[in-house]
Amino acid sequence: TMQIFMPLNFLGFVYREIRGALANIENLFKLLDKQPAIDDAPGAQQLKVKGGEIRFQHVNFSYQPDRPILRQVDFTVSPGQKVAIVGESGAGKSTLIKLLFRFYDTIEGKILIDGQDIAAVTQQSLRQAIGIVPQDTVLFNESIYENVRYARPDASEQDVLDAIRMAHLDTFIRTLPKGHHTLVGERGLKLSGGEKQRIAIARVILKKPPILLFDEATSSLDSQSEQAILKAFREVSSGHTSLVIAHRLSTVVDADNILVMSEGKLVEQGNHAQLLQKQGYYARLWYAQQHQREHDGSGQ
Ligand code: ADP
Ligand code: MG
Repeated sequence: TMQIFMPLNFLGFVYREIRGALANIENLFKLLDKQPAIDDAPGAQQLKVKGGEIRFQHVNFSYQPDRPILRQVDFTVSPGQKVAIVGESGAGKSTLIKLLFRFYDTIEGKILIDGQDIAAVTQQSLRQAIGIVPQDTVLFNESIYENVRYARPDASEQDVLDAIRMAHLDTFIRTLPKGHHTLVGERGLKLSGGEKQRIAIARVILKKPPILLFDEATSSLDSQSEQAILKAFREVSSGHTSLVIAHRLSTVVDADNILVMSEGKLVEQGNHAQLLQKQGYYARLWYAQQHQREHDGSGQ
């Protein structure tokens, strides 16, 4: 029993450590990723977000020295634009988002928000400006209410409940015996991928950041739940700069701009109509997914 008890107790310790270390929720990913800590530049200033313009300037990046992941990635997202990132698995889409959040520094090139190099501002102010709905949301062993409140610990009860409602979590919560006081996470109720993403959306609503990032869950969700979650995300991001990593191309047809990634390179960009007209890589992906949908009802 000792052998079983010890690791559990140790996990409890790690969990409390992690919780205690959280200035905000996203730092957890950093801890779990085990990468070396990134320090603020000496004399780092606060990021001042005006319109929320994002600019990648010739960004090169690799996780390991001899394996380039992003090559000369160069694009601009205008203030308030909705931009989608598409491309096959492993193309580097999630890495773009991790760099923007500065989980890692670029090897070459710069990332600017409203003209300010993100490597030159405080990480605290950078992360304050960005809300992420990740592919896999981390939940604490606490109530749904507390899990949402993490995003802004000083939020009023009304603000937390409003965020839960706006993320369309309330219908689900009404089916639970203890409502939003129901415990979730490893030691509580197990939530589906979609329910977890809704909690992440509620966190973003509470945080009200000027820049929003959404990393679409891959296979865990059926297309109908995914549509509902994207709808909730669109409501939140309306009027703000947003980047959505999408697997189903049918979800990006109305994006202002679509960045098409392949093997770490930005190979095409434009809106849906422009990209179809090009009859290039995006068009091939699009027709392949249409074809798949006709045959097995999936893919869209
Ligand atoms: P996508 O989101 O487009 O599927 P990712 O950005 O997650 O692609 O990954 C791009 C490449 O980087 C993949 O080959 C992946 O294996 C690699 N990669 C991702 N994360 C890490 C990491 N932490 N360490 C090493 N390689 C990684
Ligand atoms: Mg990814």
